[in-house]
Amino acid sequence: MRYSGFRLIKEALTGHRGWGPAWRDAAPKSEYDYIIIGGGGHGLATAYYLAKEYGQSRIAVLEKGWIGGGNVGRNTTIVRSNYMLDENEPFYEFSLKLWEGLEQDLNYNAMMSQRGIINLMHSDSQRDAYIRRGNAMILNGADAELLDQKRVLELYPFLNVHNARFPVMGSLLQPRAGTARHDAVAWGYARAADQHGVDIIQNCEVTGFRIENGTCLGVETTRGYIGAKKVGVCVAGASSKVMSHAGMRLPIESHVLQAFVTEGLKPILPGVITFGEGHFHCSQSDKGGLVFGGNIDGYNSYAQRGNLPMVEEVMQEAMAMFPMLGRARVLRMWGGIMDMSMDGSPIIDKTHINGLYFNGG
Ligand SMILES: Cc1cc2nc3c(=O)[nH]c(=O)nc-3n(C[C@H](O)[C@H](O)[C@H](O)COP(=O)(O)OP(=O)(O)OC[C@H]3O[C@@H](n4cnc5c(N)ncnc54)[C@H](O)[C@@H]3O)c2cc1C
Repeated sequence: MRYSGFRLIKEALTGHRGWGPAWRDAAPKSEYDYIIIGGGGHGLATAYYLAKEYGQSRIAVLEKGWIGGGNVGRNTTIVRSNYMLDENEPFYEFSLKLWEGLEQDLNYNAMMSQRGIINLMHSDSQRDAYIRRGNAMILNGADAELLDQKRVLELYPFLNVHNARFPVMGSLLQPRAGTARHDAVAWGYARAADQHGVDIIQNCEVTGFRIENGTCLGVETTRGYIGAKKVGVCVAGASSKVMSHAGMRLPIESHVLQAFVTEGLKPILPGVITFGEGHFHCSQSDKGGLVFGGNIDGYNSYAQRGNLPMVEEVMQEAMAMFPMLGRARVLRMWGGIMDMSMDGSPIIDKTHINGLYFNGG
């Protein structure tokens, strides 16, 4: 079924009886050409593009819980390509370009909104660093602008730019960055992959790999053994655990990252804003809630929930940047698990085991 304005009117006039499930509840087959482990954004996108761009079939996504239950449905919704390293930036810029046509491609409203991201700078050395990053972005085909204090104030007039501890000297802006509704990303990819024949199998945890003579033959799951010619692992938050079943030790540390949302407020933030003297970042959802977060927790953990010391740190940064936030009430907070590589760069690679591929970090 294609979603469209016409379909919406038709359904509205006929009691909404024509909507079907967005994807099938597939039962696992005994064998596939491709098994993707993990029903997050990366796993579902891998399955979708394998089917759509590479014309492959017999593909399954195995998800231990439910689609979107991992980080893809827990993040602070920011999409951007404002990175510096040559190894990173083209990858994120390619992703941002995909985003620009993604909703049409998937026929799904992910509420993509290119409202821009600004990174505030609070010192001369930080200005130098941001100029360097902006130039690296431009050299890699992305967009970047340096804003002086006056321009920042035009966009965010409530900022205390003369703050004695954290004066705002300007910012780095990426106009094409913005936000996208996080869980809709998972649902959009799941629906589009399903329409290309991909089996999306929820409540199916992978518990091991069958590897013989250096080749991966399939996976052991809580719903039995499933054979595969190729297996892709996309299990952010559980990368080390899952890859340990294949005897691999990864250069990854898992940390909780927390996010927060306030009650709905009138529009105050035109885009995404980040604090340069900490990791605080904030945007306003279309419902009016301020969505924000800070740094990862300092210690390793697999706990998918928040904790009070980090609440205090994030609130301190928020208050340093815009004290008026102190009057807003926080409605919800939650945590996801970030698999951090040593330089913060993603890993997408073949492994030394034939037919086994890894995406994470
Ligand atoms: C609080 C928070 C805020 C963030 N903010 C942003 C942001 O603003 N912008 C941004 O770009 N990124 C952000 N991120 C990071 C982003 O969410 C992740 O990089 C991204 O979602 C990773 O996608 P994924 O598909 O690799 O992993 P996930 O979406 O986590 O999917 C992995 C899936 O694998 C499943 N799985 C695990 N083990 C198994 C197993 N054994 N068998 C089967 N399935 C398994 C899990 O259940 C999960 O559904 C944030 C993350 C968090 C936690």
